[in-house]
Amino acid sequence: MAIDTNPCICCNSIKREVVSNIGRDLLKLETVICIGCGLIHSNPIPSKEELSKFYKEKYRSDYKQTYAPKIKHTIRYSSGTIYHLNTILSFIENPNNKKLLDVGSGSGELLYFAKRAGFNVFGIEPNQGYAEFCKDKLSLPIFNGTYEEADIQNSTYDVIFMNEVLEHMPDPINVLRDIHSYLKDGGILIVNVPDIEIGKHSPLKRFHYAHVYNYNHLCLKKIIEISKFKILNKETSTTSVICKKSDVECNDVQYNFEDNYMRIKSNLFTHSNLKHYLSIHPYYKILKKIIQYPREFIMSFFINDHKQVLDKIFQSGQGDIFHRFFTFIEKRIR
Ligand SMILES: [Zn+2]
Repeated sequence: MAIDTNPCICCNSIKREVVSNIGRDLLKLETVICIGCGLIHSNPIPSKEELSKFYKEKYRSDYKQTYAPKIKHTIRYSSGTIYHLNTILSFIENPNNKKLLDVGSGSGELLYFAKRAGFNVFGIEPNQGYAEFCKDKLSLPIFNGTYEEADIQNSTYDVIFMNEVLEHMPDPINVLRDIHSYLKDGGILIVNVPDIEIGKHSPLKRFHYAHVYNYNHLCLKKIIEISKFKILNKETSTTSVICKKSDVECNDVQYNFEDNYMRIKSNLFTHSNLKHYLSIHPYYKILKKIIQYPREFIMSFFINDHKQVLDKIFQSGQGDIFHRFFTFIEKRIR
């Protein structure tokens, strides 16, 4: 049954359908799909204040605010990040002294690689533990807080990187417009968000209070075009989008939102718990951990410096052999 809400940020429709009433933590969380385009979001959309309260309460007694990554985490994440650097370098001819901003810089792998490649880097990270780790262990310039608090000047950056940030934002169009203003003319933005079309989560773990919007590639591309960016990899069917600052609202991508809505809705309703546990996804996840975790544990005994791990990956210019193997498999079982 359709319900009416506010106009969709992607297609302006006010019609939604409820697709779930439960969140990842098994608490009540209403999630809806836009009938006009297939964009999925929490209903109601939480305000910035509510989200900020959620993060404070959720993480107050948790380890995450003061958490610093261990060597095994750097081993796990650095291989994937070198591919992001390679993507950036394929659009920037000479990185020397070009300015790169990482919004939500986390444990700093991208900033570290970009700095080694010649970029003049800066990171923004709200988590205190991660921010201090990056400053102390990786000697990176980081602002600990939100991007709004960082007081960034207009037309400052050549490249801005946002990895797994936009799905947390209750007003992504405004965020993209702010990011647009921080870029120099012709500046490059790289946006990565989780893809709602990948069927690796069980229905009970699919939606999360902190993920306000759940995108597939078409909905993500549309809000990027609305925010005056020209998409450079418009043929991609992934939610990793590379775009360039433009003066006008762009409309280069062919959108068939009716099909998009029907397909996403059908995927959501046919991917039941039973079907999930009969698929390869949960078992692949266990197998990956069985291979990955002991290896990281053993390697951590012999390497005691995060920079050593990052330098090795940077010099090779690609992820380690295990990462390449898992990436190969994951592309096939998507
Ligand atoms: Zn819509």
